[in-house]
Amino acid sequence: MSNLKICNRCVLNENYPGVKISDSQKCSCCTDMFGDTYKNYRAAFKNYQEFKKGIKNFTGKHYALLMLSGGKDSTYLLNELVNKYGINVLGFSVKHPFESEVALNNINSLIQKIPFEHIHLSLNTKVYKKIMQKVFSLKRDDIFSERLPCTVCGYITEIAGVTMAYMHKIPYVVYANDPLQILNTDYNIKKDLENMIKICGKADVYSLFGKDIIDEIIRAEEDELPTIVTPYVAMMDSYNENEIIEKLKAENLYRGDSVQTYCSLVPLLNYYSFSKYNSYFFGHQLAQEVRQGNTDRDFALSYMEMYRKIIMEIAIKEDITEDDMKFIRTVLEKKYGKDNKEKIEYECKSIVNMRNVANALQLNISTNS
Ligand SMILES: [Zn+2]
Repeated sequence: MSNLKICNRCVLNENYPGVKISDSQKCSCCTDMFGDTYKNYRAAFKNYQEFKKGIKNFTGKHYALLMLSGGKDSTYLLNELVNKYGINVLGFSVKHPFESEVALNNINSLIQKIPFEHIHLSLNTKVYKKIMQKVFSLKRDDIFSERLPCTVCGYITEIAGVTMAYMHKIPYVVYANDPLQILNTDYNIKKDLENMIKICGKADVYSLFGKDIIDEIIRAEEDELPTIVTPYVAMMDSYNENEIIEKLKAENLYRGDSVQTYCSLVPLLNYYSFSKYNSYFFGHQLAQEVRQGNTDRDFALSYMEMYRKIIMEIAIKEDITEDDMKFIRTVLEKKYGKDNKEKIEYECKSIVNMRNVANALQLNISTNS
């Protein structure tokens, strides 16, 4: 363990799949980042310009399908697109078995407050769970593999959204990803569908979405498919998280915070990442915060170790003691600040619930899996 090579600029180490540490102790993400970041930014910028330019000449019904998670970013974007730019938006959400209740309530209250049509797609729960079970047992070695279950769930949402837009002849699919997620915003529906089939098998993909539509997407030319737009990534520097939350709360469009809209799989995703790769699930995100100077590097390193203990030594236990709970709270207080009680309690509950979520997926968790 003591010989583990850690990047001296961010917090990534060589355990992260696809990450290499150079002799000068820089990780491949810190050194290559400019390339990928710039490429993704350029693509996001170009698509967003075209999106804005095309609005006034559009004669169809819905100009955009917005991926609505119930989190702050998609809520804010919905309000901007509908009320500021007057765009006819089709809101789209995928119901999945591990959705946060806070997110669900946010979506329901938006439907009352903002004039837009909304589709809440229910996927076949049995097939969804079967896919997740399969994915949780896989191990790969390409970059971001430690996030595999999350990536696959993201593919599911993307394919569902794009096929819906395609069937309704909606030219744009809008994602509210924030700029920190820029390395995960190289959406390409044909490539992502191909990856999903490679990971999960064609039979499960067919049974989740329908054979005909999947075959049609595979056959379609790129320019026949909707374009995916990520406005916040395109706007980069003008994205301001706190401003978004303040404005939304002022307009009574949002309650809770980003942690409370996370799905209930998050602790289990961390379990997966720690047990299979010895890596923190949000490692790349934390690394980016450290690079940008928003989080102290030493704190980030110690936080990841404490969080590992929470997931791998406490959350897996059948009986979690008062002392365990005290430890969890202390760690979360360090991360969020003592005053953020609601956020801390929400995450505590979610951590304590990890075994139940694992049971629901019939996953066997133990210290040595
Ligand atoms: Zn680095």
